Amino acid sequence: MLKRDYEGYERAHEVVRLVDGDYVCNLCQLIWKRRPQTFCAGVPVYRYGYWPKGLYTYTQLRRDLKMQPIDREQPDGAYFIRKSPYRRWLYTIERAIPRRVSTPLQGEAITKMRAGLVAHYTCQRCGWHDKSQGKNKLALRIRDGWCVSCWDVFQRLELQVAQCKWARNYIDAGSFVVLDTETTGLEREDEVIELAIVEGRSGTVLFNSLIQPENLAERDSFATHIHGITRKDLETAPRFPDVWPVIRAILRRYRRVIVYNAEFDYFQLKYSAAERELIPTGEVSDMFDTHPF
Ligand SMILES: [Zn+2]
Ligand SMILES: [Zn+2]
Repeated sequence: MLKRDYEGYERAHEVVRLVDGDYVCNLCQLIWKRRPQTFCAGVPVYRYGYWPKGLYTYTQLRRDLKMQPIDREQPDGAYFIRKSPYRRWLYTIERAIPRRVSTPLQGEAITKMRAGLVAHYTCQRCGWHDKSQGKNKLALRIRDGWCVSCWDVFQRLELQVAQCKWARNYIDAGSFVVLDTETTGLEREDEVIELAIVEGRSGTVLFNSLIQPENLAERDSFATHIHGITRKDLETAPRFPDVWPVIRAILRRYRRVIVYNAEFDYFQLKYSAAERELIPTGEVSDMFDTHPF
């Protein structure tokens, strides 16, 4: 047994509380739901067979690689075993030395192996290098040759491409209108006070009007700070029943409608129509948010 095995029974974990409430140890990097009562290995602890590339047991180093750790008492990791001392040490090839004086050929093989390891833990896109070579489980990681932030950038680009494709297909599929509304606010009882309908491909404005809300007199707020529409503007505007036949006719003719903030705006329009017992437009075949993803 190594001296280190005995020390291990006295070393406490360096426990830190994570935002999600779990506990993590800075030394062994294990994670618990409750504050741990065990002792700490002092180095990252892995499940059997799940340690990063470049870590080897003492036996593997000696038997398979004809090497040995510089200091056997200073391992770089450990894995669990069932019997005492419940852990077995792992050593990095980085700090291992040949067991005997190596031939030039062996030396070359070892150099190649180390270089390969550096490449494995370097992002092929931005060149960021994981100095811990996968041993710091909490750090930014390399996955399939790229670092986490490069994957993030890539995924965002992919999303943009998908959105462009969607828009292109939508435009190619035929005529549609774009519907944009302004309302008195974001609540259920709020009303549409401006409505614009634009032909999607030509950009021709088919309809654009302010609309006087029902309870203009009682309202004290119009969300003027958002759209700039004032009480005075609305006093002379047509009421919803006046403009509804025109709106309905357009929506019936153009079955495909794109709505800015669909969830809210289309609901407001339907609500404004239902409120006054006006005939709804029927189903509109394409009702999309402008952010379909
Ligand atoms: Zn620990
Ligand atoms: Zn990167």
